[in-house]
Amino acid sequence: MPHDPSFQIAADGLSDTIQLLAKACDSDAFEAALKTVPSALPHQGQSESTALPLLADLVLGGAKQLDAALSFAHMDPPTPWLTWAMTLWNARLNQNLLHPATAPAARIVEERVVAWLAPYFGMSGGHMVPSSTVANLTALWAARDVKGVTEVAAPDTAHVSIPKAAKLLGLRYRPLPTDREGRLLPGGATHFEQSCLVLVAGATSTGVIDPLSLAGKAAWTHVDAAWAGPLRLSNAHAPKLEGIERADSVAVSAHKWLFQPKESALIFFKDTQAAHEALSFGGAYLAVPNVGLLGSHGAMAVPLFAMLLAWGQEGYAERIDRCMAVAAQFAAFVENEPKLELLAAPETGVIVWRPRHIELDAFSSRLPNGLASRTIVAGEPWLRCVAANPVVDIDAVIEAVRLAL
Ligand SMILES: *Cc1c(COP(=O)(O)O)cnc(C)c1O
Repeated sequence: MPHDPSFQIAADGLSDTIQLLAKACDSDAFEAALKTVPSALPHQGQSESTALPLLADLVLGGAKQLDAALSFAHMDPPTPWLTWAMTLWNARLNQNLLHPATAPAARIVEERVVAWLAPYFGMSGGHMVPSSTVANLTALWAARDVKGVTEVAAPDTAHVSIPKAAKLLGLRYRPLPTDREGRLLPGGATHFEQSCLVLVAGATSTGVIDPLSLAGKAAWTHVDAAWAGPLRLSNAHAPKLEGIERADSVAVSAHKWLFQPKESALIFFKDTQAAHEALSFGGAYLAVPNVGLLGSHGAMAVPLFAMLLAWGQEGYAERIDRCMAVAAQFAAFVENEPKLELLAAPETGVIVWRPRHIELDAFSSRLPNGLASRTIVAGEPWLRCVAANPVVDIDAVIEAVRLAL
């Protein structure tokens, strides 16, 4: 057996990588490291231990810290440490869920995660995918091939992945009118006999939830709950998504409010058997049918399984509730500050706001990096904060906004 230490457990090297994790972002180190990156593939390698400091300056030094006290701008959460460890195990084991023979435990873990979570959405099952972009495409594919829908009808504020999926599947795309906050207007939506109706639970720009009472009133209803789906784990906030259980399919991004490393998402179906049959392909070397869009893929369920075990529903609810409380606190500050304007009370932890009499560019350039993002709502520019970071220091955020006024 050839001896190749690159494939062995290198305790020192691995321990160094863990020590380095504490390194803060460092733009000088990053710029310097960037200059030393070879422009062409090196003919001769420099060894793992020599590459590590350069990698640290580049990858860690040049990263945004999503667990920072003022990190409040995007749907990307920090990740709990156990998910880092599970991601390391995944990389070491490199299981392929395409074949039961190459991923015996990993397939069981994914089945369990799906079985644990599907009932919160009134669904019977489903599978994991890398993103809600893929989950949405998978859902519309099932809608087309199970129910023969010919068009996709969605709020005109729907995520870009919805028109993209309609185009890929050769389905007509019908944008539906929305209110000032981007919520589907129920009156503007009729004639869904041939349609897949997409309802959004947690619009990307404003966090609003479409009227889920429309679920079940089309040939197929898909709920894009990429952002707000995890509210179902919170006893306090689950009722906001009432009606989701009447959908035919639901997409949820685990790398958003389930605090998972990218890429991690779920597609759930009401009738999983019919959907999976429509999405199945057999093949010469396949022991079991290949379900869905992905071929070879890794055990993305493992870090999610780990957190569901470690935190349980209660642990998830506690962190999501904390994010919702922080969003409410920030919205109350904006509402009570005469120099600021709030678009509306935040429905799912997304706060859309702006200064009243100060030019937006000048104001946002005075805000700390990572505190707010920009968005356009009904043609007008706004600032947007997202409560995805359970360890955000909301008092410090409010103080930073006061200072910029
Ligand atoms: C983020 C988001 C998506 C896309 O999810 P990814 O996992 O980033 O591909 C789709 N729809 C909505 C409403 C989203 O917020």
